[in-house]
Amino acid sequence: MDQKLKEEGIFLPEKRIINRVEGYCLHVDSESLLLSSEENEKNTIATVFRGNGPRYSVFPEIISFDDFLLSWAQDRGAEVVSQPVWEIKLPEDKSKPISLYYGKKENLQKFDADLIVGAFGVNTHLMKEIQNLGYGYKPPQTINTYQAEIKLGKEEVFKHFGNTIHVYMPKSKAIRYATIIPKGDYITITLIGKKNATKDIFQEFLNLEEIRNRIPPLKPHCFCSPRIVVSPSKNSFTHRLVMIGDASFSRHYKNGIESAFITAQLAAETAFCTGIDASSFSSSYYKQAKKLIIHDNYYGRFLFLINDIISSIPLLTQSHLSLAKKKGNKDSPKKIRSILWNMFTGNIPYRDIFKILLDFKLQISLLLNTFKLLFKKLKNPITYFGKRSSASTTLAPLKNNNVIVIIGGGPAGSSCAIKLKKLALQKGINTRIIVYEGKRFEKKSYYNQCLGVLSPPLDKIMEGELGIPFPWEIIQKKINGYFVHSDNNVIKLSGEHDPSYACRRVEFDNYLFQKAKEMGVEIIPARVIDLDFSSAGVMVYSESNNIKADVVVGAFGLDDGMAKIFERITPYRQPKFLSSVVTKMHPGEKAMAEFGDYLYAFLPSSLPHVEFGAITPKGNHLSLNIAGKKVDADMLDKFINLPSVRKALPDNLDNFLPQLYYFKGKFPTLPAKGVIGERYVMVGDAAGLNRPFKGKGINSAV
Ligand SMILES: Cc1cc2nc3c(=O)[nH]c(=O)nc-3n(C[C@H](O)[C@H](O)[C@H](O)COP(=O)(O)OP(=O)(O)OC[C@H]3O[C@@H](n4cnc5c(N)ncnc54)[C@H](O)[C@@H]3O)c2cc1C
Repeated sequence: MDQKLKEEGIFLPEKRIINRVEGYCLHVDSESLLLSSEENEKNTIATVFRGNGPRYSVFPEIISFDDFLLSWAQDRGAEVVSQPVWEIKLPEDKSKPISLYYGKKENLQKFDADLIVGAFGVNTHLMKEIQNLGYGYKPPQTINTYQAEIKLGKEEVFKHFGNTIHVYMPKSKAIRYATIIPKGDYITITLIGKKNATKDIFQEFLNLEEIRNRIPPLKPHCFCSPRIVVSPSKNSFTHRLVMIGDASFSRHYKNGIESAFITAQLAAETAFCTGIDASSFSSSYYKQAKKLIIHDNYYGRFLFLINDIISSIPLLTQSHLSLAKKKGNKDSPKKIRSILWNMFTGNIPYRDIFKILLDFKLQISLLLNTFKLLFKKLKNPITYFGKRSSASTTLAPLKNNNVIVIIGGGPAGSSCAIKLKKLALQKGINTRIIVYEGKRFEKKSYYNQCLGVLSPPLDKIMEGELGIPFPWEIIQKKINGYFVHSDNNVIKLSGEHDPSYACRRVEFDNYLFQKAKEMGVEIIPARVIDLDFSSAGVMVYSESNNIKADVVVGAFGLDDGMAKIFERITPYRQPKFLSSVVTKMHPGEKAMAEFGDYLYAFLPSSLPHVEFGAITPKGNHLSLNIAGKKVDADMLDKFINLPSVRKALPDNLDNFLPQLYYFKGKFPTLPAKGVIGERYVMVGDAAGLNRPFKGKGINSAV
């Protein structure tokens, strides 16, 4: 729609846009599926108020979308008469003008026109008037929807619904679907019933548990029961008279505004290029509208029928949603998501959506997925046939009022908190997300043995997945490549790859941690000291506040103390790891400049316990480290004194050797065991899913 307006040279000003929507969230039964516009078209959905906001609302400026379009037409010479139209009279002789009666009922004004365009929608007596003209117009069939605007305040709206349009398809005999659209301080709820929607059906929707949890029992600011079109009109034109918009044809359940725009354009083009008599409208206007809207609606009706069937059978619902939830670029999940996205947005014709649905591979994947689920259900009837035990009902996906505790606020913990917060906002789920972290990163006084190399594509992961910018301001050095040394050879690795960046690790941790805090993640600056798992939750004990959580995320790196606690009470087993001893030297500006922006890696065979060693240039110093199963400070000294290492280091090296001080750290070499279990999941180093080398530790943690 936005694109079509632009093609006509009409640019909707930002102030008329109430929200930019990031995507749709579909809720069927207790399952939900997020369809983000990032995967589809970016920032393409805007929400507007058709009128000037809900009743009694006050906006500093006129915000109405309809007012904007009308003023646009007026500015280009259209005359606007702010009076109601009561009657239309067809001429007896088609060469004579058509008459229209408007104004105050007791004193009607007559207007003779060459052409009348009926753009009066379906909520007016004029439909009957035109029908009574007797030339054969039959208004479209309609059903009543129910619509309400509720004022919650911007913060609450964002907290519960984010910038996402929520589509609910509850199991109900009366409700087909309902949408909740965030619009600034307000939400607009639109309910489409299987037949006419009534206030009682609307109340049934508000009484659903998931809705009650999000919307306090407030009175709607204003509500109405507008009609929407469910079938096309008949004979929507005659000599000198043509109906457009809802009064003629509209896409099935979708894109009323866009259909109005399309029919308006077709009618205008016909009037100017073909003629204004019945046969011109038939051969041009109707023919094209039939192709674009009426025929396409057959597919639309069929798709909605399929949707009704799928959403009424839990196995089929689960099979479709679980396939759609599969991440990545796999063909079938992408196709399902694209079908749903286009059904919601109406971006492509129903016929094209139908074609995607017919895809052979997709149907096979759906069939296999359904059988897989059925098989699981038969194997485990307790959890799958609705007779869940009280312990397992809470183990469904996160829902309102759940408490999530993250142990550790390093890259894995902070990123997990940010992502959870983002998803909760998008899905409109109100959860508490709490991070326990023993260190005070903001003091920046901690030394982290990590060398602080941030490697590609961390910037893209942070921006794309977490929605936060890469912290360019803390970068100390760009690393353009590597020299890899064996005993006798050196290979230079550089060129076509993106560079890495070195920073102070504590500054990176602090950056992510503060971002999580800004997003509303709760921080408890204390170490977790014990956990109790029970069927009802996890009791988290710390040096400070104790919290009962629904789920805990282990983001404590390779912390032995915390690993032991998990090992005692869960099947978790810490990953195997390598130790690393680190030191740093400040050889001065000149030597740093001479060293350059390459990282030196060594594979020294003369030190059997050392798997590898490295020299990493940072802002004003060099970090040196070795890694191996059993390495210590003595071994690091030996490493530094190897001829190949000395050769790479500055000439004034001997001045620094007596002053070196050492740090010890470790990194995982194999995945941990039991990384997931009832009510817990491990992330980052605690999961050990990746053997990190030069930047991949932070990447995989994030
Ligand atoms: C010598 C060395 C150099 C490295 N260099 C790099 C590099 O240059 N680039 C790179 O990407 N990766 C590097 N890594 C790997 C990288 O450091 C890790 O992969 C990464 O930090 C993992 O992040 P994490 O969040 O899982 O764990 P961590 O960064 O270890 O964070 C865990 C957090 O949990 C907190 N915590 C632990 N226990 C508790 C508790 N009981 N209660 C509350 N909080 C707790 C800790 O205080 C800590 O802040 C290096 C590793 C080593 C050993």
